[in-house]
Amino acid sequence: MFPSNESFVGALQKKGVNRRRFIKFCAAMTATLALPPRYVAQVASALEKAKKPVLVWLQFQDCAGNSESILRSSHPSVLEVVLDLLSWEYHEIIMAGAGHQAEAALERVVKEEKGKYLAVVEGAIPLADDGVYCTVSGKTALDIARRVCSNAAATIAAGACAWDGGLVAAAPNPTGAVGISEAVPEAKVINLGGCPQNPANTAAVLVHYLTFGELPAVDQYNRPLFAYGRIIHDQCERRAHYDAGRYVQEWGDEGHRRGYCLYKMGCKGPQATYNCPSVRWNDGTSWPVKSGHGCIACASHRFWDTRSPFYDRLPSVPGFGADVTAGQIGMGVTAAVAGATIVHGIASAVRDRMRTPPGASTPPATRGPAEKN
Ligand code: SF4
Repeated sequence: MFPSNESFVGALQKKGVNRRRFIKFCAAMTATLALPPRYVAQVASALEKAKKPVLVWLQFQDCAGNSESILRSSHPSVLEVVLDLLSWEYHEIIMAGAGHQAEAALERVVKEEKGKYLAVVEGAIPLADDGVYCTVSGKTALDIARRVCSNAAATIAAGACAWDGGLVAAAPNPTGAVGISEAVPEAKVINLGGCPQNPANTAAVLVHYLTFGELPAVDQYNRPLFAYGRIIHDQCERRAHYDAGRYVQEWGDEGHRRGYCLYKMGCKGPQATYNCPSVRWNDGTSWPVKSGHGCIACASHRFWDTRSPFYDRLPSVPGFGADVTAGQIGMGVTAAVAGATIVHGIASAVRDRMRTPPGASTPPATRGPAEKN
């Protein structure tokens, strides 16, 4: 669809993207990768020389939410990421070709670009009943994934379903759905969990690959540390309210309107890791917690089963939080968060109890604005 021998900068210039905007893009990617600002020049230099990598995007058992996410992204813009950074050769939703023509394009990439192209997988892969629950052009998702991903330089699992089966694999998982790593163990996979994944992270992974010639450092789930290395609770703008014991007690109450902590409404931020609070969505405008809804830990392993019910408060007992095993440090930090949650919950309950008027049977519903001092 786009020539792979064209440089990234050449493609940008053709589209009228000036150097100022290019450097701004490099700075945004450097920040997303959690690299010091001095790396902006290195990123820019590498991208200026880089040839556009060939990319194929496969869709299996999915809702197309990750495609929607990247196609509707404005930061970095879809123009820069999707059309200019990549030679996008196959994507069922957006490619002009169809039927045999489309399948021939995919086959050409596998044969002629073997070991050099990048594959993105969106959606889970069913293993039950010989994989009959997802077929494309008469082939099962499993057969396609094996052929395409095992011959790719690297595979990006975009979103929860491609990572660990996501919603499709949630109990009782009738189709035997799994993520790409389990379906094709020989593939070199980096997992971008999230429902959907944040396109800024997808772009950052690609920029890292083009700049340093390798995929970024990952945790034990093969998720890039730059995006999944920090606990959401530690990055949240509502954290001061948590620390001060100011909680939303019910949707739409005074605390909710004032942006208080959503812990009591089921927020899973204390046991989830992701850079959602810093990268955000819609041109960096907002993210779920900022807009008033608790985190559901959508970037955590098997979150549909392990983090639901989404509106139940986290139990104040230690030992929960699979996400915390994202690394040794993460485990320690989560244990500390869990401990802090217990202590905090107890302290909050004691405070509430102390504020209960004599003769009242229940504590005040919230530490509201009138009480904050
Ligand atoms: S519990 Fe949720 S809303 Fe409250 S500070 Fe932590 S991440 Fe933010």
